[in-house]
Amino acid sequence: MVRLVVNLTTSGREVKIVPRNKESREEKMSALQEKLVDGVKEIYESGKWAEYIAVMSKFPNYSINNCILIASQCPGASFVCGYKKWNEFNRNVMKGESGIMIFAPIKSKIKVEEPLYDSDHHPVLNEDGTQAKEQVEREFKSFRPCYVFDVSQTEGEPLPSLANQLNDSVEDYEHIKEALLSISPVPISFEDIAGNANGYYSPDAGKIVVQKDMGQLQTIKTMLHEISHATYGHGSKDDKTDKETKEVQAESTAFWVAGMLGLDTSDYSFGYIAGWSKDKEVSELKDNLELIKKTADKITSDIDSYMKEVFKHEQKSTDIDSDVEVYFTVAECSEFHSMAGYTEKIESAEEAKGIFESIPKEMYSYIPAIGIQLIDKKTGEEITQCDVINRGVANYDMLQYYSEIIENPKAMKMLGKLAELFPDIEVVGEAPALDIAEPCLAVRKKPDKFFKKIVMG
Ligand SMILES: [Zn+2]
Repeated sequence: MVRLVVNLTTSGREVKIVPRNKESREEKMSALQEKLVDGVKEIYESGKWAEYIAVMSKFPNYSINNCILIASQCPGASFVCGYKKWNEFNRNVMKGESGIMIFAPIKSKIKVEEPLYDSDHHPVLNEDGTQAKEQVEREFKSFRPCYVFDVSQTEGEPLPSLANQLNDSVEDYEHIKEALLSISPVPISFEDIAGNANGYYSPDAGKIVVQKDMGQLQTIKTMLHEISHATYGHGSKDDKTDKETKEVQAESTAFWVAGMLGLDTSDYSFGYIAGWSKDKEVSELKDNLELIKKTADKITSDIDSYMKEVFKHEQKSTDIDSDVEVYFTVAECSEFHSMAGYTEKIESAEEAKGIFESIPKEMYSYIPAIGIQLIDKKTGEEITQCDVINRGVANYDMLQYYSEIIENPKAMKMLGKLAELFPDIEVVGEAPALDIAEPCLAVRKKPDKFFKKIVMG
């Protein structure tokens, strides 16, 4: 895999773009597909799976209506059961937690008198000729509100988990996050989600919410999972996909796209997919492989296009840097360089200062100067030159007429370095965006204006 690294001196951050040609991309997609199917299957063979199933089977199954009630009150709910039931998992509901209301079916029995029939369905008669009656117990099913609690409202022994939270940091984290925010079909916000879900997609509200302050890889993976839900159109009016398939689709897609970005989410994704699959055949995954692959490919392409666009813009700003060499100059006569000694292409500020200070005193009437010089790397020709420091005065006002210098980060950095070497010099004008690590004394004399410029730069 070829990696292009662009180091941006202007902003100090690195952009890494992974160019992909069609072939290697296809190969990579296939390799990820194999890893995904095998990885999920391996979960079933692990002891972890048996332990997980043993505990999970103890959780009650709620009706669709109750699931809706739970989700509306606690969008991030994952494991839910009644107050006492939590004790079976060696967990307790924490003090002050209010329950999630659902409707529990209750069976009540009442005794009623009913007419008596014999085995041939003939009425059994009393001696007086009226139909005999019998006392029977009948069951009535009704509903009463009751309260349940999500695992996030409880404390105690951790529940077994198939999916491990991803704590790794991500190279280019901010760039990838930016790209995902940009390509997501709906806006993404980072919030504290009630319950312990990492994120959710709300088709009605048209938004994605991701739990804030998670690990970098978990955040990217969760963003991808929810973007996938939104891309598949899960939860829309025409969506007939069952819950299990939706989750398998979203997580498989997230795993796949992350893999194409060079990120490995196996520790979380395989367990998550296994946990949602109805059987060990992973049919939700296998039956949907083509669709999952297509969707993963689309999301990856969107991210790629975004990255390339950013890359193009940011490369433009580095072009200034890479095609231009920056040097210092020392002129014995700043008015007419050719009148007296003139040294150009001086690489360091220290060197320039040394030459400048060795100018004999009798030359002072010519006003010697240190300048900055830009040279075209290809042609070797001078693009521009500006004298900045004269004996005793640093004239930054002049720079405003030299946009090539002001816009060149390296030149500005070098001028900052030069200013540091003359701490007692008088400064005329303001240096726009001078990159000075240790501001010289003259700068300190009028800190307000100067620092404002530095910060803005
Ligand atoms: Zn999901």
